[in-house]
Amino acid sequence: MKIKISRVPEGHSVLSQDMTVGGGDAQGLVLEGTVSCIADLDRLQAQVHARVRYQCVVQLECSRCLAPVRQPVSGEFRLVMQERSHASGRTMLPDDEVDLFFDDASGEVDLSPFILDEILLSVPMKPLCSEDCRGVTPKGDPAVTVEYEGRQKSTDPRWKALEKLKDKNREI
Ligand SMILES: [Zn+2]
Repeated sequence: MKIKISRVPEGHSVLSQDMTVGGGDAQGLVLEGTVSCIADLDRLQAQVHARVRYQCVVQLECSRCLAPVRQPVSGEFRLVMQERSHASGRTMLPDDEVDLFFDDASGEVDLSPFILDEILLSVPMKPLCSEDCRGVTPKGDPAVTVEYEGRQKSTDPRWKALEKLKDKNREI
């Protein structure tokens, strides 16, 4: 998402843009389509306060069975931008309160790296196609079969209690 600072008016304005992510900047991220971005901008002379909302769908692989997983990702963050040249008569914020500097009024700022960072942070480390994905297990894997059979054979004591109740009812 790129913003032409010279076109940002004083006061409040809203800018929406679709951002394409790809190539070397993507850090291995594969997106379905583009990232929809909406920026609420509040300009006060040399400062622009931005609230950026983003929404996209990330294509991942299930960490157990490698099936494709569609992960919708959305969020928002705030950013403070300030003109670098310290013109006199303007209130300037201290540097540590500024996230991004722009060089002059005609410059363009690129918010893409910030948005990309936010998306990368919200992507799960170990995506799953479903909570109970059993993964890729070769058929007849002894470990899995034994566990399954064991569960089927054992009768839960609570069921036994229920059966006793049933018998009682029959007697009445
Ligand atoms: Zn899976």
